[in-house]
Order: sequence, then structure tokens, then C-alpha cells
Amino acid sequence: MSDKVEIDTGEHRIEAELLERREAALARVVKFGDPVLKSRASAVTEFGPELRAEVERMIQIMRDGMGVGLAATQLGILRRVLVFQAGPDSEPTALVNPEFEWLSGEAVVAEEGCLSLPRVSMDVERPLHARIAGVDTAGEGIVLEASGLEARVLQHEIDHLDGVLILDRAPREQRKGALRALREGGGYSPPAEEGSEEPTGEHREPRTDA
Ligand SMILES: [Zn+2]
Repeated sequence: MSDKVEIDTGEHRIEAELLERREAALARVVKFGDPVLKSRASAVTEFGPELRAEVERMIQIMRDGMGVGLAATQLGILRRVLVFQAGPDSEPTALVNPEFEWLSGEAVVAEEGCLSLPRVSMDVERPLHARIAGVDTAGEGIVLEASGLEARVLQHEIDHLDGVLILDRAPREQRKGALRALREGGGYSPPAEEGSEEPTGEHREPRTDA
């Protein structure tokens, strides 16, 4: 019995530390209402240690914030830089000056959260596959072929660099519900599909904030 109690205590302590780090990271992310989120970021023209340091800081905030992606815009920096990590086992990657080379005709709807829109998530339809070109922090060319969640996260972040939010892409009713929640400091999730057991109205813990 006493062993069990000790293990529980340890787990709770770790969880509390992670939550504290998450809060600290999220406090540095620009939230809905700040006009910077509606602004288009400019291309990066200087590559070097400063850019690398900026990217390291973005990766740390994304990880501590338990996000799957982060755009420089979300830290109030209007430069075309994004980081993403579309799964716990994938490497965090930075992409500078990203451009779509190709988007699939096939599109899918999935629920998305955003680190800049606390406690709300909405259904967003996006192309399932994407080919995106850009450069790394040294200015060397990169081409990414992405599918599924990775393609979705990249599109979400490039939207941020163009001043576009999931609010702009969600169905009208969900946009209204989310805006109300953001105004009132509540939470919003899309209505659960018919026959599903998921609760409606209250916010489910998002797994894909970006
Ligand atoms: Zn976002």
C-alpha cells in the first residue's frame, strides 16, 4: 500500500511540473484579440545564429506548451518561420519562408486547436497531402512531402504566417460558438457526431494545438 502511495505522489509531482511549464510556455504565446495574429509575416532574409536561437526558443515553447506546431507570429514576431513536431516520436523541425508547391485535391475535416485560441477547437477542412518548399535556418533549401496530421499542422502554421486563424476556416456555427467562448473565457468544441459517446458543449482536452 505504501509503495502505491509513493508512486502516485511521484506521478502527481511530475504532472504538476509539466502543467507549470505548460502554463509558462502558453503565457508567452500571443492570444486571440491581438492584431498581430491578423498580420502577414515577412520573408526572412538573414540567416545565422540569431535565427537559430529564435528557432530553438520556438521549439522549446512548442514542446513545453504541448503543441504540435508554432509560428513566429504567435510570439509576436512577424517573420516567416514555423516549427512543428507532428508526433511525440518525430523530430522537431523548423521551416523558414515556406511556400506550397502542391496541395492534394483530396481534403479531410478534422478537429483543430490553436495555442493562440485557448480552450477552443473547431472542425477544419484541409487538403490531406501537401508538398511545401522552404529553407532551413542556414538558408538551405528544403522540400517537405507531408500527409495527414503533419500536412494539417504545416497548413495551420502557414495560415498563421498569412494572418489566418482556424476561426476563418471553421463552419459558420462553430465560428460563432468559438467566438462566444473566447469572449466569455469559456471553452468550445465542435458538436459530437450523432451516435458518439463524446460529451458536447464542454471542451475536450485537445491533442493537436498548434
Ligand atoms: Zn494556431
